[in-house]
Amino acid sequence: AVPTAVMVATGRGANYGILIKGGEALQRLEKIDTVVLDKTGTITAGRPEVTDFLLLSNDSNIAMSEATSLAEHHVLRAAAALERASEHPLAEAFVQYAVERGLNLPQAHDFESFPGLGVVGVVDGEIILIGNPTLMKMHGVTIEPQKATAEQMSAEGKTPLWIAIDNELVAILAVADTIKPDSIEAIRKMHDDGLRVVMLTGDNERTAHAIARQVNVDEVIAGVLPAGKVEAIKRLQAEHRVVAMVGDGVNDAPALAQADVGLTMASGADIAMDAGDVTLMRSDLNGVAAAVTLSRRTMRVMR
Ligand code: ADP
Ligand code: MG
Repeated sequence: AVPTAVMVATGRGANYGILIKGGEALQRLEKIDTVVLDKTGTITAGRPEVTDFLLLSNDSNIAMSEATSLAEHHVLRAAAALERASEHPLAEAFVQYAVERGLNLPQAHDFESFPGLGVVGVVDGEIILIGNPTLMKMHGVTIEPQKATAEQMSAEGKTPLWIAIDNELVAILAVADTIKPDSIEAIRKMHDDGLRVVMLTGDNERTAHAIARQVNVDEVIAGVLPAGKVEAIKRLQAEHRVVAMVGDGVNDAPALAQADVGLTMASGADIAMDAGDVTLMRSDLNGVAAAVTLSRRTMRVMR
């Protein structure tokens, strides 16, 4: 039989948009000492927008703006056409930016996605490659001369994405996501509850730290591939931490399942919700501290 206190607690949680799947989840929730937060879509809104588009021209003697804008449109059109085939939130930003500029996008062919790295495909007979430095390296594209530029963008909390055409670097496009209004306050509450807060992301180290500073998390684990997220949770558990993972993406489902308690944002993918022990109907982080408080009170009553 389910104890009355648990029934009362799950009912009260539901009133606040916190759906707890059973008494066992509530018990485990009481014991957590570490909260791992996915960055994109969890701490941030998950709707990145393009902030910079930097064309890397080879023929630097051409200063004609008309030539520049033609080259810009060529790259942007190809990149957005490729990203239209991707389901990543970053891809949406590319497409919107191109469409706003009146570009109509051709069909991409041979689309291939490298989770946590980027995408590749063919547009109008050219091989388009978009992603992070690891993906560029995998395809033999040199990014060294432009590294400082990208690092500057990252330091501002933007995510730089490298674009190559036929294995030659042609542009850097940066996107930025806004921090959800409640994230800073919610993380402060987690600290008040004595919880250690960790950010876990596939985004690069520098960008992750720039965001981390703004929301004041204790630790950053960045540059992890989707499969690496599970390993990151296991590593924390090996340090005898009792871990709650909060996420929203399809990528996060295995990590949510590995965590002692998985909390999912209702705005996220259905697969992620299935993996979770707790669903946060309001897609802000306040529900995390509220769920912990609820579990602590309930367990105290039951003892
Ligand atoms: P997160 O942990 O923020 O959800 P992901 O693991 O989904 O991050 O992606 C990590 C990185 O992989 C991105 O920051 C980006 O550099 C690259 N990436 C993934 N998908 C794409 C894409 N469709 N286009 C370009 N880059 C991508
Ligand atoms: Mg994600």
